[in-house]
This record gives sequence, C-alpha cells and structure tokens, in this order.
Amino acid sequence: MAVQVLVTLDGTVLDPKLPLLTADDLAAVRGDGVFETLLVRDGAAREEGPHLARLARSAAMLDLPEPDLDRWRGCIAAVVEHWVGKDDFALRLILSRGGESSGTATGYATGSPISATVLAQQTNGLAAVTLDRGVSSDAAERAPWLLLGAKTLSYAVNMAALRHAGRLGAEDVVFTSTDGYVLEGPTSTVVLATGRTLRTPPAEAGILPGTTQGVLFRAAERAGWECEVGPVRAEDLLTADGVWLASSIRLLARVHTLDGEALGDAATGARLTTELQQLLAGA
Ligand code: PLP
Repeated sequence: MAVQVLVTLDGTVLDPKLPLLTADDLAAVRGDGVFETLLVRDGAAREEGPHLARLARSAAMLDLPEPDLDRWRGCIAAVVEHWVGKDDFALRLILSRGGESSGTATGYATGSPISATVLAQQTNGLAAVTLDRGVSSDAAERAPWLLLGAKTLSYAVNMAALRHAGRLGAEDVVFTSTDGYVLEGPTSTVVLATGRTLRTPPAEAGILPGTTQGVLFRAAERAGWECEVGPVRAEDLLTADGVWLASSIRLLARVHTLDGEALGDAATGARLTTELQQLLAGA
C-alpha cells in the first residue's frame, strides 16, 4: 500500500513521494538489510519492544551494525505523530546495509494503510497451500548463512510462493521442510489448536520467532489454554480443531482450506477464531 509517512532514522520527516535511496543502496541491489512491520492501533505501536529486539537480532545475524534502539523508538514516535486519521496502520522499519560506496547503513520508517484484503481475511479466513521450502528442519543450525529466522529484506522467494499459491487458487502458503515439518507462512507464523492446547513450530526449525504468536500465547495462557512450542508435522494440520496464520498486521486469520481440502469443523473453527482474536485484541 502507498506509503503516507516517511521518517529517516535521524528523525527527518520526508515527502514519501520523493526518492530516498541512492542507486547503489544494498537494500535495492542485494536485498541486504533487515526490516520489521508493526501494527499501530489507537496511536500506539503494538509490541514495540519485541519488534525492536527482533530487529537487533536480525541485524546481528547479518553482521550489520547494532541498531540504536532509542533512535528507532524516536523514529516510530515520529511516524505515529505524523499519521493522519484514526485508522490502524502498518509501520515498517527498514535497516539497509546502505550505499555500496558509502558503506553507511540506511535506516528509515514508513506508515502505510492496511489493505482491505488483510482485513477481509481476519473475518473470512483464507485458503492456503503447503509448499516445500526446500530446506530440512535442521538447516538453520547446519547452514547459518541461509539466514533462516532473520527478517531480511530478501523476501522475493516469499512473494514468489504467494504468487504460486495464487496460481493454485489459494491466498496463502504454509511452508514445510523437506523432512515433513511445518515451518511458517511467507509472512506469518502457523498456530494450531487441538482441544484447549495451542501449538506453534519452534524458531530452531529456521523460522522467524513471531511477535503476534508470542502475545497470543501469553494471553491464551492467562485465559487457561495450554500453549506449546514444538515440532508440528504437516499431517497435524489436518486433524487440528483450528489452524491460523498469525502476523502483526493481519493478527489472526483462520486457514479454512488447505491444499483444496476443508480444514476442521467450520463452526468450531469460527468459534475458536473469535475467541483467540478477542484474546489478541485485549492483550
Ligand atoms: N514469519 C515470517 C516469515 C514473517 O514475515 C512474519 C511477519 O511478517 C511472521 C512470521 C510473523 O511475525 P510477526 O507476528 O512478528 O509479525
């Protein structure tokens, strides 16, 4: 969606319609950098601390200079301050390795409206397909240069997977490992419910630790749910009472169809979705 607010890390508010990066910026030519996307609701960025912690973690995985989190907090506050209107919006933090010649990291934050598609998925759920990510569940440990679990700017593969899902008549993707484990969505964490137990795959499987899943699990535990982080087999999705994709902007969208098959009982799925969305909203 169109960027409506643009603030550079030094706090300068710029016209988002004007060019910002130099032609040799490594974000543009190599996808070499990291980012975060936060939901701003009622004038406050949700889960700012966990998002900044993950920005720092991703930066460390890419050997980028350690982000100055106070400056990023200031940048977030400036975007929130300059946002016009009361609607929720998406606030993105971008940290690039910077110009190939300058060698100085580039940091900026943007504010953009939330797409109608995302809002519709919260209400209607979505159809997903499982796609093989081509890595085993121990690849993160064996091959750290793959940067599995870092939120890098190199999302072309994730976007290609979403387009592939579209060609198959689905809206989203559940990535699986070559050894049959559920990983994550291209822009989301997978959560499933069996009875009153929620489960999500572990970060060690080479996936991004989700801030939304973190909030959801803390709120659900307070409400009496059992919450587990552990391996999930692809076939576990077929027998679960509910499967969701969780992420900061979409919050929680139920996967009602997987690989063309209806998942679980629709009424149970809808009831659980409402319950978990309310827990998230109140957290
Ligand atoms: N996994 C991937 C690959 C993502 O890109 C995202 C968010 O965009 C998530 C998981 C969910 O993370 P969060 O809940 O912090 O938005």
